[in-house]
Amino acid sequence: MSANRIWKKLLTVERVEIDQDTGVLVARVRPVARERGRCGVCRRPGRGYDQGRGRRRWRCLDAGTTQVFLEADLPRVACREHGVVTAAVPWARHGEGHTHAFDQQAAWMATECSKSAVAQLMRTSWRTVGAIVERFVADRDTGRDPTCRSRRRTLAWSR
Ligand SMILES: [Zn+2]
Repeated sequence: MSANRIWKKLLTVERVEIDQDTGVLVARVRPVARERGRCGVCRRPGRGYDQGRGRRRWRCLDAGTTQVFLEADLPRVACREHGVVTAAVPWARHGEGHTHAFDQQAAWMATECSKSAVAQLMRTSWRTVGAIVERFVADRDTGRDPTCRSRRRTLAWSR
């Protein structure tokens, strides 16, 4: 499955623009209907609670030399098990500021070169690379798919 088809299954792109203040590319998106209103912790459907802290951005893989961010509303939902939490988004882990694709690339690169080199190439902090690697290792040790909900999706991202 191509990356474009995966994106269409997860989100709708509302607009793409260059942020005039920072020069980064911002894709304003929203999750597709079946991905909305889910608990950020367990991903089960929750009841809408409020609009949370408004729009947020997630760092995505660069487009050439331009940094790319996804930007979307991030409401809160009420989950029966976890209470009031920010809603899940299909393109990133709960509470993280990078997309799955960004995390995957950083984690893979960390297996091939130093953390400092990864931080420089990914234009992020050394600490961020360390946190990404720690999450991947923890997920591996608990037997969870460290990249996202679907192994098939994971493989598709890497093509
Ligand atoms: Zn939950």
